[in-house]
Amino acid sequence: MPTRWFAFFVVIAGLLLAPAARAAEPAPAASEAVPRPPKLVDVRFTLFKTSEVKTQEGFAFEGGNLFKSVAINHMAVLVQHPRGRFLFDTGLGRDIDHQYRQDMPWWARPLFSYGPVTPVRDQMEVAHLGPVDRIILSHAHWDHASGLPDFPRTEIWITQAEKDFIAQRHPGALLPSQVDSPALNWKVYDLENRPFASFMRSRDVFGDGSVVLVPLSGHTPGSVGLFLTVKSGQQYFFCGDVVWKLDAARLVKPKFWLPSLIVDNDRPATLHSIEQLHRLMVANPSLVVVPAHDAAVHDAIGYYPHWVD
Ligand SMILES: [Zn+2]
Ligand SMILES: [Zn+2]
Repeated sequence: MPTRWFAFFVVIAGLLLAPAARAAEPAPAASEAVPRPPKLVDVRFTLFKTSEVKTQEGFAFEGGNLFKSVAINHMAVLVQHPRGRFLFDTGLGRDIDHQYRQDMPWWARPLFSYGPVTPVRDQMEVAHLGPVDRIILSHAHWDHASGLPDFPRTEIWITQAEKDFIAQRHPGALLPSQVDSPALNWKVYDLENRPFASFMRSRDVFGDGSVVLVPLSGHTPGSVGLFLTVKSGQQYFFCGDVVWKLDAARLVKPKFWLPSLIVDNDRPATLHSIEQLHRLMVANPSLVVVPAHDAAVHDAIGYYPHWVD
């Protein structure tokens, strides 16, 4: 996410140059409800904030206030299911300073910075939370994958499209020092031809409908979102970086054009995913949608040691 001081340069640039992308009109509401598991399962989750940085709302989405400061989190989500425990993303890890110095190009540094880091591995060790069975990545961008080397040999679930994306290298978005270690235990998985809500493909991780992955390609080719139905029946949707702020999904707005040019691999496909997310929210008003970086949404949920069940 862009830093505050860089905002002023882009404010001027944004005023001088025509925006490269325009939000489409909101699509009509879909009728597809998010399916409920046939039986509620003892699923719970907790949020770990690994770092926080300030940016301007106007960078997070087109039409946002360029003079309003908002908090952006780098997060890991720990999900506990009776048959296993996994992290959804890692946030920033123990080696972020080294990874950043080694691999983040100079031209991207003003746009992508971070605050003080408390890695999820450290937070889990202090809390004696024990190991996880796997890590599932929403996508492989540097601010989601930084903690991977902190979990050597732990299975890392990734789609083939995202694995191919990593192999292509994308300076400023992917850092090789995070994903090249031979100690990483990649597991490529498939989304199956099973519709879930408005998504044509899905992966039911434990086979009981409580933890379901769906495709959100656009931001990166193999991005996925995670539906969780916790013990109480409340449903959550972790939507990665399709939007950086929930308001962008409410208003159907793409990211500000400059950061979007760098981070959204396929901008029309990203906008399609935003429209799909918008329709999902309209059709499922009780669904809690959680963008990976929206600190206001995370604050409302609460952080470890608070568990959501
Ligand atoms: Zn991203
Ligand atoms: Zn991100």
